[in-house]
Amino acid sequence: MTQFSLQFLGTGNAWSKPPVNYNTNAIVRACGHAWLLDCGLLCPLALHDRNIPIHDIDGAFITHLHGDHALGLEEFFFQSFFACQKRQNLWLPHAFSRKHSPIEGSDLWDNCLRGSMETLIYQDGKPRITTLHDYADIHIVMPQQPFDIFGLPCEIFPVIHTPQKPAFGIILDNRVAFTSDCTFSQKRIETLLDRNVSLIFHEVYFSAPYPHAVHTSIDEIAELPEDIRKLIVLMHYADDTTKDAFASARKLGFQIATPGMTFDF
Ligand SMILES: [Zn+2]
Ligand SMILES: [Zn+2]
Repeated sequence: MTQFSLQFLGTGNAWSKPPVNYNTNAIVRACGHAWLLDCGLLCPLALHDRNIPIHDIDGAFITHLHGDHALGLEEFFFQSFFACQKRQNLWLPHAFSRKHSPIEGSDLWDNCLRGSMETLIYQDGKPRITTLHDYADIHIVMPQQPFDIFGLPCEIFPVIHTPQKPAFGIILDNRVAFTSDCTFSQKRIETLLDRNVSLIFHEVYFSAPYPHAVHTSIDEIAELPEDIRKLIVLMHYADDTTKDAFASARKLGFQIATPGMTFDF
């Protein structure tokens, strides 16, 4: 067992705004290192507002390529590279690397970051165009192939989120799962519990149904048996979620993650 903590920089959705909330991104601290579990558009602002300097962060893991999970990488990498002279670490599911995935349009560099981050630098007096590898050491990870992030055992698992777009959850130290964005699947939750995961950070929305059902509604997840509901921490909810909605969820046994909250394991 490896000791670690998970601190939420935010627990909101793609449209969350401070001071109410920030994107559902977290800092994992383990083995003397801190790394980002997703780095969305509001992640650099959340770090700033919590007085966490970017140079204290040693890497990032990305679950999928939506802006609230991946598009903070531009500022994170730029600041690390130009202001801190620090090359970062990036743990990247294979589906987001052109070299490792046949899925068109899912490459993190070509389809998300290159337009703004490809830039001319001078190295040993010679001009050169930057690539993702200048900003970070890339660690490609795949489902069913356990790896570690600075000594913390990790494993990713696929989830269903938006059509045609790969998305992944991550299991930390074989006992804590983080689904990131996903549609509801009781089977996925049961599979995680079968492999001895004892707490699941799971996304939810409390409002009117999303078109095309790309997220998990409270009505769906509330159908789980109570003994399972007690093992679930809800996150990724809208800024206008009411106190009553939270209270009803707590009554059902769910825990609710709030911005800044830290879980120690
Ligand atoms: Zn999201
Ligand atoms: Zn998403």
